[in-house]
Amino acid sequence: MRLYDSLTREVRQVVPADGRTLRVYSCGPTVYRYAHIGNMRTFMLGDLIARVARFEGLGVRWVMNITDVGHMTDDTSDTGRDKMDLAAADEGLTPFEIAAKYTAAFHEDRRALGIGDADVYCVATDHIDDMLALTRTLVDKGHAYEVGGSVYYAVESFPEYGKLSGNTLAQLKAGHRQELEIDPNKRHHADFALWKKAGPNRLMKWASPWGDGFPGWHIECSAMSMRYLGDRFDVHTGGNDLKFPHHEDEIAQSEGAVGHPVVGTWVHGGFLQQAGQKMAKSARNITRVTELADQGVDPLAFRLLTFGTRYRSEMDFRWEAMEGANERLSTLRRRMAEWAAAGPAPGPEAWSEAARAFDGRFRDAVGDDLDMPQAVVVLSEVVTSAAVPPGERRALLLSFDEVLGLDLDREAREAWEPTAEMRSLVSERDAARAARDFAAADAIRDRLVGMGLEVMDAADGTTVRRRG
Ligand code: AMP
Ligand code: ZN
Repeated sequence: MRLYDSLTREVRQVVPADGRTLRVYSCGPTVYRYAHIGNMRTFMLGDLIARVARFEGLGVRWVMNITDVGHMTDDTSDTGRDKMDLAAADEGLTPFEIAAKYTAAFHEDRRALGIGDADVYCVATDHIDDMLALTRTLVDKGHAYEVGGSVYYAVESFPEYGKLSGNTLAQLKAGHRQELEIDPNKRHHADFALWKKAGPNRLMKWASPWGDGFPGWHIECSAMSMRYLGDRFDVHTGGNDLKFPHHEDEIAQSEGAVGHPVVGTWVHGGFLQQAGQKMAKSARNITRVTELADQGVDPLAFRLLTFGTRYRSEMDFRWEAMEGANERLSTLRRRMAEWAAAGPAPGPEAWSEAARAFDGRFRDAVGDDLDMPQAVVVLSEVVTSAAVPPGERRALLLSFDEVLGLDLDREAREAWEPTAEMRSLVSERDAARAARDFAAADAIRDRLVGMGLEVMDAADGTTVRRRG
């Protein structure tokens, strides 16, 4: 797979550092409110990279953080409020209750969008010790200093500061906004907090060598990415707005601590917009995943819709286009059911020359910096191709769906009925189980599995459904 690296600003081949398992870290949600479909577009980027890596035969270890402390209302001044604290005050809940509520909602939303499970969801407040240890390392190495109970990263100690975002110290100085409220004790106005002294009313605070306080937002991603993926991992994802300051600061922290580059490829996704404006709670133009369903749209159709735009580009969300994608998804599923009725889907070894050519083109597209618009073109050509028999068309789409995650076989699955032979095997098996003849029951299970079925046992008997 090739991906565009925001740091070197070129498309490059992504090869796992250990040759086998792609290690991916995705900045996850700040759980102080419901995520909107713009956030979800960015989370789908990490999912897509994981899916393509698996499609290409790699192992994947995917880590996503859950931010539940330290993300301030203003990234660049020193006086913002913690978003978790504000939400807690607004809703009359504790910050931990807020986190639990919106973390649960996030998982529901991402599942509805076919975003697979990460291997690890790491929660910032579970890793305060890791953040403190990293902060102490940075102080020891001369990259950070304490003042008045807070610890700041000294940006001048890291000569490469600005290499990701272009916000070098010279640039920052020139563009420095005088109206920003900056802690006067800082050595440089761009120094950022690793640890902040807790004010008197603050609920979430922890003891530290510098007194009671709480971590800055950026330090969690340095601490947790290296804890779960080591100090050299392959891919780091986030939305475009995270390049600065979040990822610029993560680079300064992680590289300052370990003395070498940590992330192989930085991947950033473009914004989802509505009427030309970034989708954001503050802009009051957000759409939630649950609202898609309320409007009669399958959330997976939003997935299909996003495939129409390259991930790096901004994408405008329009309801007409959303409904169009919903129609297209229904049509695809209907075609899959028609092809399924015509016979089984053959394995790749039996595919025709034409089917193999489509498979190659699809693989090229998804491997080419996730060229999903092109992948969807290939898919559409398969659907109408006279050269590929129906069973192979279904086989191709089933394979493509490992990347697309559109549940294309849903209607085929629901329309499917077991044959008379399958039904009689199921009754024989129920009888064997009732008679506690488990050897016979197992033998029948093996026959059913051999027929391409999934066998599910419940107290009231066995049911089968078709695999693939
Ligand atoms: P947050 O929950 O605010 O920390 O944001 C989670 C992720 O959503 C980050 O990677 C952001 O870059 C991303 N994000 C925020 N707004 C949008 C948007 N309108 N379109 C795409 N991604 C977004
Ligand atoms: Zn992050």
